[in-house]
Amino acid sequence: MAAPVNLDVLVIGSGAAGLAAAVSAHRAGARTGVATKASIQANNSSKAQGGIQAAVAPDDSPELHAADVVKSSHDTADLRLVEALTGDAPSAIAWLEELGVEFNREADGSYRVARCGGASRQRLLQVGDRTGHAMTKALRDAWSATDGTTFEDAPLHELVPIASGWRATCGEHVVEAGAVILAAGGRCYAEALERGELSTNHPNATGEVTKMVIGLGAEARDLDALQYHPNGGAWPTTMQGYSIPETTRAYGAVLLNANGEEFTDSLGPRDQVSQAIFDEVEAGRGVQTPDGRPAVYLDTTRIPESDAERSLPYMLRRYRGAGIDPLTEKLLTYPVLHYQNGGLVIDPDAETTLEGLYACGEIAGGTHGRNRMMGNSLLECVVFGRRSGRAAAGKAIA
Ligand SMILES: Cc1cc2nc3c(=O)[nH]c(=O)nc-3n(C[C@H](O)[C@H](O)[C@H](O)COP(=O)(O)OP(=O)(O)OC[C@H]3O[C@@H](n4cnc5c(N)ncnc54)[C@H](O)[C@@H]3O)c2cc1C
Repeated sequence: MAAPVNLDVLVIGSGAAGLAAAVSAHRAGARTGVATKASIQANNSSKAQGGIQAAVAPDDSPELHAADVVKSSHDTADLRLVEALTGDAPSAIAWLEELGVEFNREADGSYRVARCGGASRQRLLQVGDRTGHAMTKALRDAWSATDGTTFEDAPLHELVPIASGWRATCGEHVVEAGAVILAAGGRCYAEALERGELSTNHPNATGEVTKMVIGLGAEARDLDALQYHPNGGAWPTTMQGYSIPETTRAYGAVLLNANGEEFTDSLGPRDQVSQAIFDEVEAGRGVQTPDGRPAVYLDTTRIPESDAERSLPYMLRRYRGAGIDPLTEKLLTYPVLHYQNGGLVIDPDAETTLEGLYACGEIAGGTHGRNRMMGNSLLECVVFGRRSGRAAAGKAIA
């Protein structure tokens, strides 16, 4: 094993949260490194399609955004984190634009915003339906332009407190850093495997980093609160586990049972919409896929073609490639395991309950309480990535 590498800040994970944290720590003057399990491109963030929330419309505000988060969480979210999330959101969008992300705009130059489930206003910004891809590419480009160190194929497998901070063993590398930022994502891929269910997640979403730091004494919350995406693809087989963007419903698609009846508010909070689908199938009013899986219909034929072409081009391409045109045929859908609502307890600087150890993105808990709204996870990655990067740099350099 090589001699330890000395850094101010070590970031674990290269999704949107880790990259935002690394760029921010570097900009704050810290000697920064990123250690990630596989290649720097491998993560859940780049699979995110729907978009990112921020109160940018004239009839909206961070306070209304916060009220929607708290309501969707059923009053279980940490109010300090919600205030940070929604208050920083407009500047997070401006920062992403500075890094080169081009959000869709209307002809008059204003942002094209959609209303997502549980929201009282239209506040979902999009880059077509590949928002996560656009964001992670811009963040990766910004990180690559620095002189920071990237350790690929370097999964964190040991973390030990030392006098000057933390010693991390990542694959073959030993790194000593004044502060460590954990951005290793959630565990829904591993959880779905265990349950024998489908998941939208990347195979690296396995959760061992959370277990490791709980073992060191870090506090966690709501780890049992896993979220189903209401609209997993159920048919054809090539689309099973695909998350049909929630923006389909924002642009007019509705859920229908076997009798063609609307059985729920298609723009309700995620947990309620998923539960309504489970209940409808349980009551015998669902349909079956040709391979015998439970499903209901998502009537995407109600989406105006112009909206679909601007805001859902990837979804259209995927389904048309699989032989189904969503604008002329209803889709078969059923909830799939998607997101870990809970995680490590953090404060508004994203510090965990262990000093000098930070956590941001899906690995952290509290911001969404027990039920996240769509579009707030990418936002959480940027807001708490930036906060953790700045705070960890400050702690390590002080
Ligand atoms: C299909 C899909 C669609 C989505 N759509 C949206 C959306 O439209 N809007 C929205 O807000 N959210 C969406 N989400 C949720 C959101 O994308 C994720 O919650 C968020 O991007 C997580 O970012 P992250 O940086 O915390 O984790 P990830 O992006 O999962 O990155 C985690 C990183 O940690 C690495 N890692 C894991 N274990 C280790 C280890 N032991 N050592 C080192 N590195 C490790 C991984 O390889 C990866 O690089 C979607 C999620 C999916 C799966």
